[in-house]
Amino acid sequence: SSAVDSFWAKANRYLMYTGVPASPVVITKAQGTRLYDASGRQILDFTSGQMSSLLGHSHPEIVETVSKQVGELDHLLSNMITEPVVELAESLARVLPAPLEKSFFLNTGSESIEAAIKMAKCHTGRFEIVAFSASYHGLTSGSGSATYSAGRKNGGPTMPGQLAFPAPYAYRSPFKTADGHYDWETELEFGWSMIDRQSVGSLAAFVMEPILSTGGVLVPPKGYLSRMARECKKRGMLLIMDEAQTGVGRTGQMFAFENEEGVVPDILSLSKTLGCGLPLASVTTTAEIEQGCRESRFLWLTTHLNDPLTAAVGAKVLEIIERDTYCQKAKDRGDQLRAGLQKLQEKYWCIGDVRGRGLLQGIEIIADKTTREPGSDLGQAVSEVAMRNGLSCNIVNLPGMGGVFRLAPPVTVTADEIEEGLQILNKSFQEVLQ
Ligand code: PMP
Repeated sequence: SSAVDSFWAKANRYLMYTGVPASPVVITKAQGTRLYDASGRQILDFTSGQMSSLLGHSHPEIVETVSKQVGELDHLLSNMITEPVVELAESLARVLPAPLEKSFFLNTGSESIEAAIKMAKCHTGRFEIVAFSASYHGLTSGSGSATYSAGRKNGGPTMPGQLAFPAPYAYRSPFKTADGHYDWETELEFGWSMIDRQSVGSLAAFVMEPILSTGGVLVPPKGYLSRMARECKKRGMLLIMDEAQTGVGRTGQMFAFENEEGVVPDILSLSKTLGCGLPLASVTTTAEIEQGCRESRFLWLTTHLNDPLTAAVGAKVLEIIERDTYCQKAKDRGDQLRAGLQKLQEKYWCIGDVRGRGLLQGIEIIADKTTREPGSDLGQAVSEVAMRNGLSCNIVNLPGMGGVFRLAPPVTVTADEIEEGLQILNKSFQEVLQ
């Protein structure tokens, strides 16, 4: 129609292209787990927007919190402390293990990782940053330098002192035990031997996602994270945990690092899920590291530092997640989703692997059952058909990996909606493979 033509004519003329092709779908309304276009067509949202809308779209209590807060106290001089900010910091300290208790609040994941890296450099007096070879921590200078799954091949040099560590990719790791299992311990030792050899003696921090999401939904085996924490400690490095996507209940626990006993990061970064679609991020650390940062004159003072508006949302999100037992719900719905995906795997040879935890699940598409040759084109085709059939799930494509569907519906998703999503996926695989 001419309205649609004019929309795209204006979009193409006035919006700058930032490297990501626009989706052909134009959404005009989002509610709960559903997106609607102008004609009223429904799409199930199994990506939680950009992995953020943890409580679904326009959760009534979030709408109420935003309206009330924006009408009362929206934004102040950055050094003016307000009630919602103190409340959010206190709530975080309550749900986090000791000694994590000192927080400040920003807007995006990139910004929060940027701040965490700067803190680690200040505290340790060192500058080298290690990250997984399939990591995603943002695309600003510092965070982008620690990102190996996107955006490295442009824009000039990264920050000095970046080191990559082999990501725990059980499905394709060349490290195998004699009986054919993923030999993560040997891989991990190999990884550290490479780091120790390349380091100039200035290891400041390891920044890691407890489950690598954009890197293909890679779940480290049990024992992996605690071993990594010990290896960092041994070298005097800080462990920065990036729970942008995994934090605040999505994986069935409040934080994914809690899956292994005794793992407590030195700095925790939260973003996406903490604001449930609003621009909120946090950095949390210990009193000791705060003191170190103070002594080395760490400075962070951005326009939206500790904004009351988004802090009120964060506090409400934590309240709802705890009160309505969404960790347990994420686990139950996640188990349901996973069981359904495993059924699809039995049915369709091109699903090579199903992996994830709670409501962060991934399926890797292969082009050949025996060689496990990556099937990126096939994955792309299925994701496009799924979107036409009314399911939004995104697909990540990394070199040497089959296309990986990421399925991360909001924790408010119902059992019926999970079933509906699985049926659409089933139908879409059928259509593409026939
Ligand atoms: N860390 C992780 C784990 C992420 O997934 C992302 C976003 N995909 C970021 C950091 C960066 O966050 P933002 O895009 O909000 O800057």
